[in-house]
Amino acid sequence: MSNLHCQELPCSAHVKTTMIYVYLLNKGGARCEAAGPVRPFIFPLTESDSRCYSTCAAMFEAAATAMTIIKLSEDNRISLPLEVTEALGLKPGDAVELTASENGFLLARHTPASPAPLRESVSRKNLETPMQFIKGVGPKLAENLAKKGVSVVEDALFLLPHRYEDRRTLAKIGRLRPGANEVFFAEVIAADAASTRGGKRFFEVTVGDGSGTVTLKWFHFNPAFMKKIWKPGRKGIFTGEVVQYGFQREVHHPEVEWLPEGEDLAAVMAGDPLSFGRILPVYPLTEGLSQKTLRKVMKEAVDRFVADVENHLPLEVIGRHDLMPLDKALQAAHFPANDADLQTLNNGATAAHRTLAFDEFFFLELGLALKKNGIALEEGIDFQVTHKYTKELLKLLPFSLTNAQRRVLSEIKNDMMAPHPMHRLVQGDVGCGKTLVALMAALVAVENDYQVAIMAPTEILAEQHFLNIHHWCDALGVKVALLTSSLKGKAKKAALEEIATGNAQVVIGTHAVIQDKVEFRRLGLGIIDEQHRFGVLQRGILKKKGQNPDILVMTATPIPRTLAMTVFGDLSLSVIDELPPGRTPVETRIAFESRRSQVYGVIREEVKKGRQAYVIYPLVEESEKSDLKAAAQMAEQLQSDVFPDLRVGLLHGRMRPDEKEAVMAAFKARETDILVATTVIEVGIDVPNATVMVIEHAERFGLSQLHQLRGRVGRGSDKSRCILLTTGRLSEDGEKRLRVMESTSDGFRIAEADLEIRGPGDFLGTRQAGLPDFRVANILRDGRILEEARMEAFSFVEKDRGLVAPENAGLRRELARRWGGRLELAGIA
Ligand code: ADP
Ligand code: MG
Repeated sequence: MSNLHCQELPCSAHVKTTMIYVYLLNKGGARCEAAGPVRPFIFPLTESDSRCYSTCAAMFEAAATAMTIIKLSEDNRISLPLEVTEALGLKPGDAVELTASENGFLLARHTPASPAPLRESVSRKNLETPMQFIKGVGPKLAENLAKKGVSVVEDALFLLPHRYEDRRTLAKIGRLRPGANEVFFAEVIAADAASTRGGKRFFEVTVGDGSGTVTLKWFHFNPAFMKKIWKPGRKGIFTGEVVQYGFQREVHHPEVEWLPEGEDLAAVMAGDPLSFGRILPVYPLTEGLSQKTLRKVMKEAVDRFVADVENHLPLEVIGRHDLMPLDKALQAAHFPANDADLQTLNNGATAAHRTLAFDEFFFLELGLALKKNGIALEEGIDFQVTHKYTKELLKLLPFSLTNAQRRVLSEIKNDMMAPHPMHRLVQGDVGCGKTLVALMAALVAVENDYQVAIMAPTEILAEQHFLNIHHWCDALGVKVALLTSSLKGKAKKAALEEIATGNAQVVIGTHAVIQDKVEFRRLGLGIIDEQHRFGVLQRGILKKKGQNPDILVMTATPIPRTLAMTVFGDLSLSVIDELPPGRTPVETRIAFESRRSQVYGVIREEVKKGRQAYVIYPLVEESEKSDLKAAAQMAEQLQSDVFPDLRVGLLHGRMRPDEKEAVMAAFKARETDILVATTVIEVGIDVPNATVMVIEHAERFGLSQLHQLRGRVGRGSDKSRCILLTTGRLSEDGEKRLRVMESTSDGFRIAEADLEIRGPGDFLGTRQAGLPDFRVANILRDGRILEEARMEAFSFVEKDRGLVAPENAGLRRELARRWGGRLELAGIA
């Protein structure tokens, strides 16, 4: 038994916590969460094992977790039961203390006492039954399942079929429908390897059932093995998609279940009611397991344990949205009734599927609602808008703010004036003028004698911000400091000093800004640019550099609404949906390698008109195997062979910061005509005179990256062009991406297309973006359900702030259990 000093927990002081959960992770970490507004967190357990949150998150994903509920005692201490400390390898006599560190929380010291009672319900325990205890699951199978993330019964219950197969009746071969997934009984008539006219080998089997014949084909096979299996006369049940070639119907790579020799179909069907005469679930992730085995295991797990799944969705919500109790939904999703509609099942649109998605979204949104509410309750700085600098800046600007900028700015100002911390996300397409909005917000803070930190993801972007901003700030008499990791020695010391004394009113930098050594005198506002590039930890650390400073997050990644709700669900959202006037859309074209000389012609033409050009390469150095042309090499070639009379510059990520700056400065000053660059220019570079961008190997870039890159041109009032050069050997997705770029410059449409092409997991990089992995919900498919669940969840928190009413105790407990450390890790803290 050990005592953890609760003061060490990052808990909000205004609400009392009653319960803390500790999860042990099998790699030596533990995860805590609380049934209250104490933030869930993860901590590594030993000094040597101290890792950052993200590593712990990965550990959590991989770990089989044991859960223990620990009560918080009167004197604000929490107790770890003996079994927990044993699992931690702590000896009685050790005292345990939680210490917050940059890497998480460390556990040290430990004192003995008696174990606290466990309050786990029997049902929960049942759901945590290891899979070995399921009938038919031996150690080998258990291991195999565990590899697929199915360690305990609960995992199995929530591993839903990814499709369903109609075996209510078997199809007749004569009536197989091309395009349909059919199941039919047949006898092997002939089998042999063959070749296409092009010389490609395949294995061909003809099967028939009296009503007709159909050809089965394999294109990857082992001939000897296939010949042994596919003996004429053998009978089996075949499943696969029927395709029509001319007059011939074929099924490629079908699944087969052989009829045991000498047995008759009717007897087999009658003897295996799990596989015949019904709609069958087909499970994902079955490599190395047969569907038949998995089906049996699932049936056993569902039959024995589904009743232990407690329904937590409030009945009124279930009623309002036509849902089912959770256990019934699971039952129906695994083993649908025989009169279910196959298509609805396969679309994941049955009441059962909707229920499961709703349930998952509801608890996510409930957590987000609570967080949002919790932040709203925290005490923050109530800035006054004195207009001292802001008015002055508006006078200095050679243009006026767009309506969208004005609207967003007033939303920000309202937040800043409120006595609670601002947590706001400003989303706006590239070039919409976010930097200016950020600067205006910064000036409001400065007017109140507070400091501002502006954090950018890369040195070059930080420098760019610095150059832009300090130009205006100098004119206003506001002192700006640049702090990047390349700042060394005396210069660095001086900068730190300026920040600590408060002399530096606006501090711009990379992650260097949140390092330990950096101390602010009075940080009032933290601005994070291009959020998606940051780990999630930074937002929290930045917050701790001041006393609940306001936080403004800016992103150019146009996140579709459904995703934004889950990724940034507790941030207030402002959208700058208007570009400054006078911009002409960038004309975008795909050009194949064969037209390279014409592309060069376009560059030459523009430069002749006094304009400048970018040529973008995907890599810095030519990798041995690939045919990518390296930026450095190409810059040289462009200079010497193609444009000997023009000035070609080179910018890449491996250059020293001062070199980069010199190159950028030269380009900005028109001392170079063509800038060959890698994607380091992706964010924030602002040279309105550049009117052409040629992107080499455009097919290698992601859509949002292409959009960001393209945003570097079209910044002036002249017509700009973007040419996507490609070798012509495009994959289907690659072609889709480039066509999207050609057809629109609307960041939201591009993002949506991207989401469609890549799927949500890939969209921002799940872990980085903090997008939760859903067990059953599909954020693309279930967007509507998400919105409904969000409305319900938020209205619960609206009615019962803090979710403290006794009738909501169950909800609250379930919420704490489900949230785990994840959403905190997701940067939603
Ligand atoms: P973002 O960061 O949103 O991509 P920037 O803040 O870099 O966009 O702004 C792009 C360019 O537009 C900059 O040159 C900036 O000075 C200019 N700009 C910003 N707001 C306006 C405005 N209201 N009218 C005209 N130009 C503007
Ligand atoms: Mg920007």
